Amino acid sequence: MVMTTSASLPLYDIVVVGGGINGIGIANDAAGRGLSVFLCEKDDFASHTSSASSKLIHGGLRYLEHYEFRLVREALAEREVLMAKAPHLVRPLRFILPYQAHLRSEWLIRSGLFLYDHLGKRKKLTASKKITFDSASPLKSEISKGFEYADCTVDDARLVIINAIQAREKGAELVTHTECLSAEIVDDVWLITLQHRQVPYQIRAKVLINATGPWVESFLKSQLKQHSPYKIRHIQGSHLIVAKLYEDNHAYILQNEDGRIVFVIPYLNDFSLIGTTDQVYLDDLNLVNITQQEISYLLDVVNRHFKTVLTRADIIQTYSGVRPLCDDESDQPSAITRDYTLALTMVSEVAPLLSVFGGKLTTYRKLAGSALEQLKLFFPDMTPSWTEYEPLPGGEYFKGQDKLVNAIQLRIKGIASELAKRWATSYGTRVWKLLQGVYSEEDFGIYFGHGLYQLEVDYLVKVEWVESADDVLWRRTKLGFRFNQNEILVLQDYLISLVVGEQGKIA
Ligand SMILES: Cc1cc2nc3c(=O)[nH]c(=O)nc-3n(C[C@H](O)[C@H](O)[C@H](O)COP(=O)(O)OP(=O)(O)OC[C@H]3O[C@@H](n4cnc5c(N)ncnc54)[C@H](O)[C@@H]3O)c2cc1C
Repeated sequence: MVMTTSASLPLYDIVVVGGGINGIGIANDAAGRGLSVFLCEKDDFASHTSSASSKLIHGGLRYLEHYEFRLVREALAEREVLMAKAPHLVRPLRFILPYQAHLRSEWLIRSGLFLYDHLGKRKKLTASKKITFDSASPLKSEISKGFEYADCTVDDARLVIINAIQAREKGAELVTHTECLSAEIVDDVWLITLQHRQVPYQIRAKVLINATGPWVESFLKSQLKQHSPYKIRHIQGSHLIVAKLYEDNHAYILQNEDGRIVFVIPYLNDFSLIGTTDQVYLDDLNLVNITQQEISYLLDVVNRHFKTVLTRADIIQTYSGVRPLCDDESDQPSAITRDYTLALTMVSEVAPLLSVFGGKLTTYRKLAGSALEQLKLFFPDMTPSWTEYEPLPGGEYFKGQDKLVNAIQLRIKGIASELAKRWATSYGTRVWKLLQGVYSEEDFGIYFGHGLYQLEVDYLVKVEWVESADDVLWRRTKLGFRFNQNEILVLQDYLISLVVGEQGKIA
């Protein structure tokens, strides 16, 4: 490896390792405060835990049972903050909690919901209420009453991407497929060795941020040769996707006999998302797969509640992720804290290292704000916190999904309403960038099927770091549910020609 002398290498205020929600949230906040920021992600953005969540922006009703009041208060308040910042992606969702006398008493549930209604700021989301079910309910007839409350749903991977876009617009440099191999202190700053597709290179940073999620402890030990101040517990969670289980647009929160809860969430119009599980994970963090035991567990809970009986044959897809939870020595995986801990260590007297342990999608913005507060000491000139009110890309001037869909249909006469809706939901008002100079379907270019045109693929490559069919089909869109193998190959071939041809990269 040929290396130049370190003094001539680019020097950033902050280098963030890890392109999940937490790393990108920190990079975005820091760039907006005037710091020079570089972020590297070894795979695609959001390709690990941040795209394997239950896709909820929620307070976490069940965390109240573990007395996590700080976390729940913060998370409850973030629901409305994030709804305002990205209204196209973060949307209110009503949850139904069927009452089962032998599991939790009515008094306990009512107290929990009272706290949930009042702990965090709530202006738009409506309060909880008691409900009864009639014969039209999709639930088994013996379940006659329950409760209803509000939380939000989000496209997790797109939340990461719009934060990345905003970070770049604020001056950060963000790269995918670039692994941080090591970092050491040379001449009072971090000398960081990266590798982009087998090609190593180096940069320098005043502060290094370890936002590697599930890898946080191993990154400290293997790449930095440091002790970890905390232990991380890897807790696998899996989801099933089945055809829509019921017609109404509520989510259900089902209580299980083991004290855990399982969500059934309306997903992408045609599907129901069922999850999740909590089990200790000890294998390769890059290859997390659902187990037979998890499948049985999730099917059993659903079948104990709904009239429709599901079997393994009904499963369309599954996905699994690993929660990086800060070890609080709880016996039960589901009881381990979901709160985050930031560890600021001084590796030498001048080179700070900040490591992120734990954290939820919902609280990423607060986590980033806390990280920046801790770094104030090293950057006294940095500007104040800004993320609470500034919209995320696509949330600017957003007047509601229906209005945006109408505006798209007015501009592109004859466009399928399904496509206009998908664009409005995915890109919000950034759809006008996607449609720059385009006034008719004739300008959409090659058709890859299922509402995906060259115009969108080109935009995703140019603006959203897309390099492969997987990036397009599973993280930037969810069209992967529709595409067959042949269609994927055609898209992949196109991407290879585009990425190699136009950017000199290998897809
Ligand atoms: C099953 C499940 C359900 C969940 N549901 C919810 C929910 O509904 N709502 C909610 O708020 N939260 C939820 N969470 C929690 C939330 O998803 C996670 O807390 C969050 O996504 C963690 O983000 P992260 O950035 O810390 O980690 P990650 O998203 O895993 O990002 C870390 C990144 O670091 C990269 N990396 C690692 N090592 C290196 C290296 N050496 N060089 C470069 N890059 C590197 C990895 O490739 C990875 O992309 C859920 C989690 C799970 C598992």
